[in-house]
Amino acid sequence: MQKTEIDLYYTTLDLEPEYRDFFGKAVKGIQEELKRIGIDQEIQVERVGDDLLDRGKSVALISWLNFMFTKYPFCRTKFVLACDEKHPLAKNARSKQSNAKCGATIRQGTISLIYKFGHRHAVWHEILHLLGADDCYDDRDPGPTCDREKCVMQWEPTEENCGSDLVLCETNIGLIKEHLGQLSFA
Ligand SMILES: [Zn+2]
Ligand SMILES: [Zn+2]
Repeated sequence: MQKTEIDLYYTTLDLEPEYRDFFGKAVKGIQEELKRIGIDQEIQVERVGDDLLDRGKSVALISWLNFMFTKYPFCRTKFVLACDEKHPLAKNARSKQSNAKCGATIRQGTISLIYKFGHRHAVWHEILHLLGADDCYDDRDPGPTCDREKCVMQWEPTEENCGSDLVLCETNIGLIKEHLGQLSFA
């Protein structure tokens, strides 16, 4: 079966240069981390420029894109956006899902939103949602609720909780492989 390549675009809104660099490195590292855990997926990562939109327009655009792309869950083009935790987009996401600590992503969707949070694992956590992974926490338990102590899908994906390299439970590895197999069109 022919493999589908993923185009992963990233950008930031209202963030200082150090965080932009940190964020870019974390996004670019995802393919290597996935390979380490047995998911061999071609991912083209590309930055699309920072601060392209002012606050009001970005909220409108993301709301619209989220609405549109939940209708096309098998899109191979993915988008990761980082903003400050005080940005209206972050506030909006938290108001809808109060336990979303470091970001918000519709599973198997197209766009991840990451609020400024200084851990690579938080960036990976949100990207893995785009690729089909589920959370390993719930309202009562910060997790991990799976059998891997350092699973990146726990509630607070810090270096301290998750270690250095990416760790993911078998259930989520299975979900990601399933989703990657379903990706079809650009
Ligand atoms: Zn999550
Ligand atoms: Zn897990």
